[in-house]
Amino acid sequence: MKAFVMKRIGEVGWIDKPVPECGPIDALVKPIALAPCTSDVHTIWEGAVGERTDLTLGHEGVGEVVEVGSLVKDFKPGDKVIIPAITPDWNSVEAQAGYGQHSGEMLGGWKFSNIKDGVFAEVIHVNDADGNLAFLPEGMDLGAACMLSDMVPTGFLAADLAKIEHGDSVCVIGIGPVGLMGVAGAALKGAGRLFAVGTRPNCVQVAQDFGATDIISYKNGPIDQQILEATKGKGVDKVLIAGGTVDTFAEAVTMLKPGGIVANVNYLGSGEFIKIPRVEWGVGMSHKTITCGLMMGGRYRVEKLASLITYGKLDAGKLVTHRLNGFDKLEDALMLMKNKPADLIKPVVIL
Ligand code: NDP
Ligand code: ZN
Repeated sequence: MKAFVMKRIGEVGWIDKPVPECGPIDALVKPIALAPCTSDVHTIWEGAVGERTDLTLGHEGVGEVVEVGSLVKDFKPGDKVIIPAITPDWNSVEAQAGYGQHSGEMLGGWKFSNIKDGVFAEVIHVNDADGNLAFLPEGMDLGAACMLSDMVPTGFLAADLAKIEHGDSVCVIGIGPVGLMGVAGAALKGAGRLFAVGTRPNCVQVAQDFGATDIISYKNGPIDQQILEATKGKGVDKVLIAGGTVDTFAEAVTMLKPGGIVANVNYLGSGEFIKIPRVEWGVGMSHKTITCGLMMGGRYRVEKLASLITYGKLDAGKLVTHRLNGFDKLEDALMLMKNKPADLIKPVVIL
């Protein structure tokens, strides 16, 4: 079968691979829509998780089940499914502790396009199919459905980690597709004043559509200073980080009120350390929490989030600015993610 791979750090291409084998609790899925992720960009061009050889890329997609193992109960060939980006081993002790994302080892639930072949192939192997596949709701737009693999669960995770309460003032740093889902999640959880930090015009428009009340450009100077100015020196209750660099944390801590929470879901592709400013962190006594996480995956979570789209609470299709047709367009879609033209939020390839 054909697969689009990372040949080594900085180099991608098409190769032939054997069709994967389906174990007793696994499934094989034929993709019907796929999307590249900024995480693929960090992995390929920044070497963020280290060297990989001929690793199939991609971890966002929707497909049709073509084979299931003998012990799979809930899915059968012909079922249309959403494939979550994170596919934990649900019987691991880490999953029992509530952290399937880290099953086996830290980030061990992030298998596709990291520690096993990803979804940019003619046949996709899904481990622990009953735990990891989600049914595609009938009639759901394929572009919106692809956003349920990673963008929706990750942005909403940031809002959950920040424990947003009604009326909280919130700043979402980064409004690519992940941050935009952070804006939407924060709004649904009851944020009051909602700052969004970014510049691409489409992203700014969609952030406003999802409930952002103030737009901040990081190109106009330090964002912590802009937020402090806008809030008469008080800062915000919660900060979600979905863009920027290791230096963004210092700005986040500085713009946070005492007792506030910084929740990061940004994939830090480079840099050695994260610095926390001592004075702004209340010389160690500010009650300012810094937390982070990887989306949790799993059928339960993804189907719950899908219901937000089905019942009209979330228009995830707004993220899809570019629709390409045909398997061979995967490379073009990935290059869009790398180059981030001004009109891009997220590309989807329909097969
Ligand atoms: P994008 O690159 O599309 O968006 C990044 C955003 O950050 C843009 O709005 C950009 O602004 C803004 N930005 C860039 N530089 C700065 C800066 N210095 N300060 C503040 N904002 C800045 O990324 P995605 O939305 O696709 O993904 C966001 C991150 O989430 C990535 O690192 C991705 O790998 C990660 N991720 C994490 C997952 C998880 O489970 N934790 C899962 C999936 C993705 P502009 O408008 O100017 O472009
Ligand atoms: Zn991703």
